[in-house]
Amino acid sequence: MHVMDAIDSSEKTYQKLREQYDPVFQQLIDNIREYNPNYNEELLRKAYEFGLWAHRHQQRQSGEPYFEHCLNVALILAEMRMDSVTIAAGLLHDVVEDTGYTNEEIEEEFGPQIALLVDGVTKITEVSGRKRLSRESRQAETFRKMLLSMARDLRVIIIKFADRLHNMRTLEHVPAKSRMRIAIETRDVYGPLANRFGMARVKSELEDLAFKYFDNKSFVELKKRINQKKEAREAYLAKIIAPIETELKTHNINATVYGRPKHLYSIYRKIHIRNKPFEEIYDLLAIRIIVQKVEECYYVLGLVHNLYTPVYERFKDYIAMPKINGYQSLHTTLVDKEGHMVEVQIRTEPMHNIAEMGIAAHWRYKEGIPDRKKDDVEQQLGWVRQLLDQFKGKEMVDAQDFLESLKIDLYQDETFVFTPQGDVIRMPLDSTPVDFAFQVHTNIGMHCIGAKVNGKIVPLKHKLHSGDLVEIITSANQHPNQDWLIFVRTSKARHHIRKYLREVQFEHSIKLGEEIITKYFRRFKLKVSEDKLEESAKKLNFDNVKNLKAAVGRGEVSIEKIFSSISDAKPKEQKESLLQRILSRNRNQSAIQVQGMDNIMVHLGKCCQPVPGDDILGYITRGKGVTIHRSTCPNMQSLIDKKDRTIPVNWTVEVEEEFKVQLSILGEDRKNLIRDITQALANHNINILNLDIRSKDKLATGKIIVEVKNLPHLTRVINAISKCKGILSVERVEPASRKRTV
Ligand code: MN
Repeated sequence: MHVMDAIDSSEKTYQKLREQYDPVFQQLIDNIREYNPNYNEELLRKAYEFGLWAHRHQQRQSGEPYFEHCLNVALILAEMRMDSVTIAAGLLHDVVEDTGYTNEEIEEEFGPQIALLVDGVTKITEVSGRKRLSRESRQAETFRKMLLSMARDLRVIIIKFADRLHNMRTLEHVPAKSRMRIAIETRDVYGPLANRFGMARVKSELEDLAFKYFDNKSFVELKKRINQKKEAREAYLAKIIAPIETELKTHNINATVYGRPKHLYSIYRKIHIRNKPFEEIYDLLAIRIIVQKVEECYYVLGLVHNLYTPVYERFKDYIAMPKINGYQSLHTTLVDKEGHMVEVQIRTEPMHNIAEMGIAAHWRYKEGIPDRKKDDVEQQLGWVRQLLDQFKGKEMVDAQDFLESLKIDLYQDETFVFTPQGDVIRMPLDSTPVDFAFQVHTNIGMHCIGAKVNGKIVPLKHKLHSGDLVEIITSANQHPNQDWLIFVRTSKARHHIRKYLREVQFEHSIKLGEEIITKYFRRFKLKVSEDKLEESAKKLNFDNVKNLKAAVGRGEVSIEKIFSSISDAKPKEQKESLLQRILSRNRNQSAIQVQGMDNIMVHLGKCCQPVPGDDILGYITRGKGVTIHRSTCPNMQSLIDKKDRTIPVNWTVEVEEEFKVQLSILGEDRKNLIRDITQALANHNINILNLDIRSKDKLATGKIIVEVKNLPHLTRVINAISKCKGILSVERVEPASRKRTV
């Protein structure tokens, strides 16, 4: 049965609602007709009647009929000058989520486009066959779903914003407990998302509405203070604007000039983030000049710079270099004779539309013609597609990872740098060569070992600046390591590094687990067979033996558990106490003191080769004493949440002991390179245990193992090698870059 046939127009409730809302619907139609004479009245009327019917028994928390919300969302969409399909979807946007109707029924009656839009706005409620999701996971899934459907049709996000806007306008009716959560979600996700899509008007309103709830005290106070000086400020502004207007007239430029109050939340942020008192925030107001032609923007800029002194470092040309969200405008800050600063924005009418409406501007109807530029829309979607690609193919994403990636992509300003081929790569501010490498190609990122910026070799954590020419040096032996996570800025780089580290850690854990199992079985004179381990894995609820071994390697499953899970394994433990066992193996460990204990068996982690001076942590292994790792060691990172098994340790360096360290070297392949390196080390009296250098494509790569006393000593070694002619980089080998066991 078609859903429209379900409507019983003689029903009392329905009739009453129709009487109440028909005039509002008429208003909606009138609003639409004004900008779009070709609107589809039949579709809109059908959506109105069906939506009203579907929601007829529901009420909002304020007590109003629920459908009032849907009508308001449609009115907001009409204010944004959306097409009929979007507005009809706005009227129906809560039908699937809140009434018994299905998306299939919507599709049958209203077609696939509207069904797609409604489905995109519908929250994730339940994922079948899985246990209840945490709030964070549900939120991550909801955003992912929203972005996914948005990648197919951008109008999903526009409806979602209209929905959120009306919900925020009526937030006072929501119970206090949820109010705070919704306000914070609006501030942290919807505000930045609107900003990313260039929807400045929506963003300002959402942020101010959220501000009112998440910090009501500051909101009320700030509003009061701003209103107090309103007249003085307006008078001041008029004084600044008058000469500009005169000048424009003299030069025959037809422009609109007006002062614009900045929204409350942006002032609040300035006070808090820049830590400035209210009195010092002069730019509460900005002046906007809207001109008719692009050339006039620059001409007018010259005129205002003639009238007032510009603050040089605050001039920005977003016309030549548009923001990633499509924003174009000239920005300049002027200083008057009293030293007050005021920001001026100069732009054309079309630029102004994009600045205010962002992506929504591309669906605007101008005299019945959609104003759509395919390239612009595609560009807006680029980052969304990239973000989603990282999480592609996974049924359930890691919530924390996804939200973090989304936030990274939302919160940043940008840097433009160039590839050697002259292509522009846009990245967040403070991006590094590693970010750049991943941006160019995942494989380049996975193996980048150094970079040349404007012809000069820089370290991987170097911060790039707009205009830099960046060239990446790669090596097949290079792999991501934990330290990269500290400085990378793009979600793409972070995602791939994390993924790689997880894989390596998993491999490490398997090998370590294997080793532990073999050793214990041997000690108790038992034979390890894959069959027995299979049996054990099954009993202990692991999918396979690999996972069981990895769990042993991570210390999650004790060897005793494995014994007891295997039927014929009845180990006879030698009656030697843990202490005795430890003492009997204690040797050569005097350089490290374990808090509160002497003489405990201590090994240095082979994986990260700590030397005195490194920040270290101890990990109590089962029956193997304490292993010392550098606190940045990925193996340690995976163990760190087992707090009862990590202990603080200190270096007590009194002994003349030497520690082995492996370094990796990259340099130009040239004659006598090896001789110079060995010479440099000999000059510093440093013992080389092993030196292995190979050359390929005019690059020399190699490993060198040296003995050092402590971290300063190591630093001297690294410096000495770095100073050799042609050396590009010298790095301590990080555990994640070695595919060996711990
Ligand atoms: Mn809604």
